Amino acid sequence: MNPANEPSFRDSVDLMFNRAVALMDLPPGLEEKIRVCNATYTVRFGVRLRGRIHTFTGYRSVHSEHMEPVKGGIRYAMAVNQNEVEALAALMTYKCALVEAPFGGSKGGLCIDPREYDEHELELITRRFAYELIKRDMINPAQNVPAPDMGTGEREMAWIADQYKRMNTTDINGVACVTGKPINAGGIQGRTEATGRGVQYGLRAFFRDPEGMKKAGLSGSLEGKRVIVQGLGNVGYHAAKFLSEQDGCKITAIIERDGALHDEDGLNVEAVHQWITKHGTITGYPDTHCEADGAKLLEAECDILIPAALEGVINLSNASEIKAPLIIEAANGPVTAGADEVLRKKGTVIVPDMYANAGGVTVSYFEWVKNLSHIRFGRMQRRAEEARHQLVVDELERLSSDKGLGWTLSPNFKEQYLRGAGELELVRSGLDDTMSTAYEAMAQVWHGREDVDDLRTAAYLVSIEKVAASYRAKGL
Ligand code: NAD
Repeated sequence: MNPANEPSFRDSVDLMFNRAVALMDLPPGLEEKIRVCNATYTVRFGVRLRGRIHTFTGYRSVHSEHMEPVKGGIRYAMAVNQNEVEALAALMTYKCALVEAPFGGSKGGLCIDPREYDEHELELITRRFAYELIKRDMINPAQNVPAPDMGTGEREMAWIADQYKRMNTTDINGVACVTGKPINAGGIQGRTEATGRGVQYGLRAFFRDPEGMKKAGLSGSLEGKRVIVQGLGNVGYHAAKFLSEQDGCKITAIIERDGALHDEDGLNVEAVHQWITKHGTITGYPDTHCEADGAKLLEAECDILIPAALEGVINLSNASEIKAPLIIEAANGPVTAGADEVLRKKGTVIVPDMYANAGGVTVSYFEWVKNLSHIRFGRMQRRAEEARHQLVVDELERLSSDKGLGWTLSPNFKEQYLRGAGELELVRSGLDDTMSTAYEAMAQVWHGREDVDDLRTAAYLVSIEKVAASYRAKGL
């Protein structure tokens, strides 16, 4: 993906890491220990399909085990390779530390174009891949817990969980071996949308930061802001949908693999998503200009650019042409180290991937806790909370009538106040709190230190400090 004169994705992540540790005072050697990937396992396995054996190559990389289990998605894409999974595993370490999810970093991938196979074939392939990883403890609720990533979703996670349970019939915590499962297979409310929801909460946190807004040259609220999104998959679709439907943003362009739709008045995200689901392509979407060279629209005028597809899309070949004053990296590694430097010099503010897309691992953490505690969040408290609130409402109404005050509580207030928090409300509240707290930690470093002039370096500083503290505490 990267132009020839740019470092690989793995080197790009290391370069950004190096920029940050140069500003830190770590014990000798610890920097190297944190940077390197502990292990990467490559597996090749055969699956009999369509009358012949097909051989597949997959990876699971463990970047850091300062906390266990390690955590990170499994990606299905033709471009998957060792360099990529190692870069993604490293990002997982920093991401988990930043949002205080108690995990080390890992990532997995399978070289496959999932669109080439039907559901039954994909199940056979996934189960076989999972078998290879499970028997080496590279999927295990206490050691290594995957999640969805590009090309995978809750369907694949349910197959993996089932495969684990078949191979570990007495493990009472078996369902916690993977997150991002469907609700009926041990999942949690709000996980599918979590990464996109996290992008929304992250942007809201940014818009509450006057200094950050000033640095980006932005003002006002999210209402009416022009947003360009690349990739209308799980992350991009949810982020664009929530921002347009709940925050009043205008999605002025949607860039997909086969072109881009452009409309300055704002696109209907739901309608475009339904079109892609039905037709498998963005082209032909009615009454809207479709640009064949989709990536060109990354350079269009807008307020917020959300790359939510794949890495390396903003690189030395187009960085100087990017007009957005604010980029929020919903994808992992969409901006190369070279482009990052160009953009920084231009004054573009980048909300880095390790923060921007951390909503997924945050809600995965909640799912893992739910699985280990074997009870849905809110089940014990909800009715008790409602009963207590009912007491307050009854008392207010009694006082009003006894004293002849004529107060009436509005039906809307009563409905909202009386409703106890269920699992979805609790997940959203936990995610919002996580994104707000992590933003504040980054912003404090970004605005507070003279030697830090960007959010990415601030994010690295916060997270590396936590990883280092964890190593120090262990005596390593
Ligand atoms: P996905 O497979 O659901 O969606 C990816 C989308 O990008 C698809 O719509 C695809 O058609 C589009 N796409 C592919 N190549 C493209 C190109 N060249 N130009 C434009 N669009 C292209 O994947 P996802 O889960 O949404 O993941 C997207 C990114 O977010 C990845 O970088 C992933 O690592 C990251 N991420 C995902 C999660 C998660 O929970 N799914 C969590 C954290 C980070």
